[in-house]
Amino acid sequence: MALIVQKFGGTSMGSIERIRDFVAKRILEEKEKGNQVVVVVSAMAGETDRLINLVKSITPEPNERDMDFVVSTGEQVSAGLLSITLNHVGHPAIALSGWQAGIKTDRAFTKARILEIDTSRILKHLKEGKIVIITGFQGITEEGDITTLGRGGSDTSAVALAAALKADRCDIYTDVDGVYTADPRIVPEARRIPVLSYEEMLELASLGAKVLQIRSVEFAMKYKVPLRVRSTFTGDEGTLIKEEDETMERVVVRGIAHNKNEARITVVKVPDKPGIAAKLFDALAEANIPVDMIVQNVSVDGYTDISFTVDKNDAAKAEKITKQVADEIGAREVIRDDKIAKVSIVGLGMRSHAGVAGKVFETLAKYGINIIMISTSEIKISCVIDEKFTELAVRVLHEAFELDKEESERVKPV
Ligand code: ASP
Ligand code: MG
Repeated sequence: MALIVQKFGGTSMGSIERIRDFVAKRILEEKEKGNQVVVVVSAMAGETDRLINLVKSITPEPNERDMDFVVSTGEQVSAGLLSITLNHVGHPAIALSGWQAGIKTDRAFTKARILEIDTSRILKHLKEGKIVIITGFQGITEEGDITTLGRGGSDTSAVALAAALKADRCDIYTDVDGVYTADPRIVPEARRIPVLSYEEMLELASLGAKVLQIRSVEFAMKYKVPLRVRSTFTGDEGTLIKEEDETMERVVVRGIAHNKNEARITVVKVPDKPGIAAKLFDALAEANIPVDMIVQNVSVDGYTDISFTVDKNDAAKAEKITKQVADEIGAREVIRDDKIAKVSIVGLGMRSHAGVAGKVFETLAKYGINIIMISTSEIKISCVIDEKFTELAVRVLHEAFELDKEESERVKPV
């Protein structure tokens, strides 16, 4: 008998009909195989936004404990509705809120981290033969206050529970049938990726493929929980995300991600001497602004330019801070550009296969797409380009690396 954790997102839980016709069906399929099932649910689609808007209509800066008190309720409703549905058709189930399920977090309201899970109550109900349904997204502090885990946090609840329960698998059911080689709305030929490594998924997720909350993938990697992203509506196999194995490096490029949510800030004519970059990036860190790419030009006559990218939401604040620092250090000016996009290709095989970067640059050049910034890691190459070329860049790179072909046709010797 296996123990399976299933997580259902907001669209899957979106109506009573969907809960009855699809969610309950997926749960019972697993149950009928003789497995124990723990289910983690999101709030019904749109509900968390609705609750946040209610709060924000009172004040833009609510007390965060109150905020979590309100927004955590969406998950309680959907967990209860699912339990009622299952019990109604004769399948014993029990709904548990975060605190009832023993999910303990720190006190970072609205973005809390799970510290530990006391699984005793869950195990007790599983032993009784029940389907245990747990609210995603929420936990409890040592003092007994309700917290939430940040937007998309139910993924992390599910993975953390799977790790704590030593589940055999964690299935993330959603409205897409897996992780794709590129956004299928941009590239109709994009293919479902059958298997990928945690590292590749982390890169794809942080580069803008919004299938899973990044923290949930980090958690899965740390505790080696195999994850499957699959569709509630088809029940197909989906995409398996697991530990890397020897065969995975044979596919050079696994997928392409894009992100239009960054802005670039350039400090022009900065005196080129020690301590300048430290001053600027310390000031940004102080203001809690994460910086993504950083590029510094070659120095000419003792001056240089520094460019970096930040999330668009932080761009105004980052620009203001940068201008202050620029004045102090005697830089000429600060330019902000919100009309950029980052296009990235990801694949474990880049470690052992040469020529990938060259092919990316050549392909973009062929279509007249100028590269504004470049950054690389062992398993990815990212280019910042003009936002208006995003879709074109994704399409031509997808074609150049033949991602429309089956992986088995693209296998290269290591
Ligand atoms: N309901 C929460 C949200 O909308 C958590 C989740 O769905 O994962 O962000
Ligand atoms: Mg989600």
